[in-house]
Amino acid sequence: MTGGALRFPSERIARVTFEQRLLAKVNDNAPELFKEFRGAVSGTELRLTTRVRDWDKYKNLCDSAKASETPIHAIHLTKFFLNRENSTEEIAGLVSHINDLVKYISPKVLVLHSTFGDIDTILRNYAAVLDHIPTDLILAIENLNNRGTVLFDLKGMEDFVKAIQKLPENLKICVDAAHLRIRSPETYTKDIIEFIDIAGKRLGHLHLSDRTLGGDARGEKSKKHVPCGSGMIDWSELISHINDAPEGVRATVEVKPENETAQAVASISYLKELASRISLKI
Ligand SMILES: [Zn+2]
Repeated sequence: MTGGALRFPSERIARVTFEQRLLAKVNDNAPELFKEFRGAVSGTELRLTTRVRDWDKYKNLCDSAKASETPIHAIHLTKFFLNRENSTEEIAGLVSHINDLVKYISPKVLVLHSTFGDIDTILRNYAAVLDHIPTDLILAIENLNNRGTVLFDLKGMEDFVKAIQKLPENLKICVDAAHLRIRSPETYTKDIIEFIDIAGKRLGHLHLSDRTLGGDARGEKSKKHVPCGSGMIDWSELISHINDAPEGVRATVEVKPENETAQAVASISYLKELASRISLKI
């Protein structure tokens, strides 16, 4: 590709999720699995299983990434409850967990699922965590498809972005393209773009995968996290838009644990091909 920058630089999609659960099954060849990916991607996001907080359980996974010289861009954190008035223990637990990860593999982004509850309480707890982690480490809160969570819909996004303006700049948002409420298949891509726009400078990371409607108008039977290009998202519209995302924002291509390599490579190839086609049209 010559003659002008790609509208969607390929390095922005060179990220893939590794499921810790999957790697637990293939412990012995985990370094090989990482190497297999290295042909297609330049880094990865490690996803730590949501119910385990024991650092030793993750060490093997991190060692495999190190052994295959795979840079770790992001870590999808395990679950911590930051929606309670009295979350002191949870905050301390999360801070210590994060600082272990930082010492061991220095990720650039931490992704934490958003939660239910009172926004002021939640933000107070985020602020307490941010007080004790490096200021150049991004803590990106991810939107979920569960009604009542703080980043559930456009209104929630707007309120959240407004409310975090007084918090440190490393508190950001991770927009997951497969987690939005489906108003209709026609408006779905538009809604993702609006989420990204509302996040603005607070956009810290992206999770990209497709979504099918599944024969249910409200999307209740929809399948999330199918390979990019196999669902209802208009990727050409979306990736053109992502190109305007703040400098340094990268995306993880999310796939389901089954046939993870094939699915991830299919998603990445699809996006790269699309990006090059769009750039050639300019
Ligand atoms: Zn996600």
